[in-house]
Amino acid sequence: MSNSTPSLPLPENEPVMGFAPGSPERAELKATLADMMKEPLEIPMWIGGEAVKTGNLVEIRAPFDHDLVLGHYHAGGADETRAAIDAALAARAEWAALPWWQRASVFRRASELLEGPFRQRINAATMLGQSKNCFQAEVDAACELIDFFRFNCYYAEHLYAEQPPRSPNSMWNQTELRGLEGFVFAITPFNFTSICANLCAAPALMGNAVVWKPSPTQIYSAQVIVELFEAAGLPKGVINMVLAEDPVPVGDTALKHPDLAGVHFTGSTPTFQYIFRTVGENVANYKTYPRLVGETGGKDFVVVHTSANVPAVITALVRGAFEYQGQKCSAASRAYVPTSLWDEVKAGLARDLATIQMGTPLDFRNFVNSVIDERSFEKISGYIQQAKDSPDAEVIFGGECDRSKGWFIQPTVILAKTPDFLTMREEVFGPVLTIYVYPDAEWTETLELCDKTSPYALTGAVFADDRHVIEQASRALVHSAGNFYINDKPTGAVVGQQPFGGARASGTNDKAGAPQNLLRWVSARSIKETFAPPVDYRYPFLAAE
Ligand code: NAD
Repeated sequence: MSNSTPSLPLPENEPVMGFAPGSPERAELKATLADMMKEPLEIPMWIGGEAVKTGNLVEIRAPFDHDLVLGHYHAGGADETRAAIDAALAARAEWAALPWWQRASVFRRASELLEGPFRQRINAATMLGQSKNCFQAEVDAACELIDFFRFNCYYAEHLYAEQPPRSPNSMWNQTELRGLEGFVFAITPFNFTSICANLCAAPALMGNAVVWKPSPTQIYSAQVIVELFEAAGLPKGVINMVLAEDPVPVGDTALKHPDLAGVHFTGSTPTFQYIFRTVGENVANYKTYPRLVGETGGKDFVVVHTSANVPAVITALVRGAFEYQGQKCSAASRAYVPTSLWDEVKAGLARDLATIQMGTPLDFRNFVNSVIDERSFEKISGYIQQAKDSPDAEVIFGGECDRSKGWFIQPTVILAKTPDFLTMREEVFGPVLTIYVYPDAEWTETLELCDKTSPYALTGAVFADDRHVIEQASRALVHSAGNFYINDKPTGAVVGQQPFGGARASGTNDKAGAPQNLLRWVSARSIKETFAPPVDYRYPFLAAE
């Protein structure tokens, strides 16, 4: 039930540490990295608050160094998934019955621990396991996750406080936001440690119990998340982690279970469509209709007008397309540049790309590191090869792929000669930017092209100084992106500032870290209490004249 007046202050976003040479955070991070690399980690599943080991060990190697074994995880399947569901269902009622502030306190405590003793450990784990440089790890694993915890608690309090506007003296009307009846299945991607924790924590905060299946390529930092939740005092069984190499036995066991109450998913569009289909096929078997929340792929655009500030365009393209090797759902992956600006944009890209260093995240001078695994390497290098082979495209920068030491792919720029070239349409999910140069006079047609070329609608940016043009683009692209940027790169959404999510093939647009998302994890109960109920069924109109 609600409390009265919200008391939590609006959180500040967690400041991002700089890691400049000589800084204390750099020294602490380097020491933590060295420490973690000393011993390979053995990672169990986490079911009912217990470590579960199957003995079916799968090796975890650093994506940037084939020789660096980070650890092993215990892989499970359908049996462990059933055990995790049972543990979640056993923990659910007691957890849901706690006053909301008791649940919020667990996650507020997690945010304090993450700001303090866990910060460099989760950063180091994300650098080693997911091949992020220190800055990319910090903005994700530390800052964004702290923000998710704090903002979600703040929004939750407001949601619980929101009550029906009218209760006459004779009655009391109330709204109770109940956690869902059943369990929530969190299926998480490799690319953001913060998203993985949040997909579990947001439903749990709202009174749900969770079964979590992380991506096989994020398990190394997933273990730190488990330790963080434990240290914050999360009761046993509220979140349960199942690990697997093959997602299908885990996925199908959970997705077809009659107690499935919701799916909190982030990952690729085909996987979400599989989940949606599986739930649809089983719709008659559930005790309650499962909530399906999915944030998926993108083909995020930058549309440049002739009035744009060219240096700002160049920086947005370089950062937007190549930070974290383009493995962000929001990464700038297609750009439309007017002919009159192209020479200058191209020269700027050449200048910047010549200075970008690629290599291990352990060397802090590297802006670009490896991609996540062999599957991604093959997929991305396949797209680059198709561009090299096609008469409709030209690889103008980068294009080299080197698998000798780790999964390294050079920042690559493809010039598309037709606006619907393959890499203008499909998500590559790597350090590959495709540019189409359009005739200056065809601005309006280019906006239309941008809207229609890809099925996705996650992020996008317009660069222009002409106010009428900005408004025109904003209208023409109203459904083309869930996060729309004016004169800024399309990546780097901040919790509490630019709630994140996209529509069309990019997902259900439930805006992680925002009240819209939290509302998906509750089912409202309207309660009316009448203090002096009527005792005669007859209404006045029935009386004799
Ligand atoms: P993915 O779809 O390959 O995997 C995501 C998760 O789904 C993993 O845990 C995987 O093991 C699991 N999975 C795969 N098949 C399954 C099945 N049959 N049953 C149950 N689980 C299954 O995605 P990924 O490569 O980890 O992540 C990259 C993708 O995520 C990109 O498409 C990217 O755009 C998207 N993404 C979107 C957002 C967003 O907010 N929109 C954020 C981050 C990543």
